[in-house]
Amino acid sequence: MTQLTTEQSQILEGLIRSYQENPESAKGSLLVHLNDELRAETNRLERCETLYGHSQTSDGNVRSELSDAFANTESIKGRTLCLKHQSRINKILRAQQMVTFDTFGECVECGRQIAPARLSAKIEAIHCIDCQNVLELKNAQKTRPSLAF
Ligand SMILES: [Zn+2]
Repeated sequence: MTQLTTEQSQILEGLIRSYQENPESAKGSLLVHLNDELRAETNRLERCETLYGHSQTSDGNVRSELSDAFANTESIKGRTLCLKHQSRINKILRAQQMVTFDTFGECVECGRQIAPARLSAKIEAIHCIDCQNVLELKNAQKTRPSLAF
């Protein structure tokens, strides 16, 4: 995650608030911010891939094939980390699309606006805190073995 200074996150929070009040007023600046995030995350992914040896293919495409080359734990850890960066890149791209369609900052579950403070900390969030909590609870229950007879 990008570590923003307090000032930077206050500016971002203000930007998100303006966007939620009137998308047109802050759309451009928000897209610029998301582009910066995208660039930063892409750099992280590249660094990660260099570090863990599964770099990009010669034609520049990220290798998606998960080969048996990652036999040891270190490689698995590295791969997991790289996948996290890849997944965040996809989420930032989705956020950009949502800005374009004026749906950024709305919870995809209940349709209410996500708190600007939450979005400034996690720009790719698509759930409000209430729906996120419900989701996490459901996921936790899914992984727990059923005790029902
Ligand atoms: Zn919600």
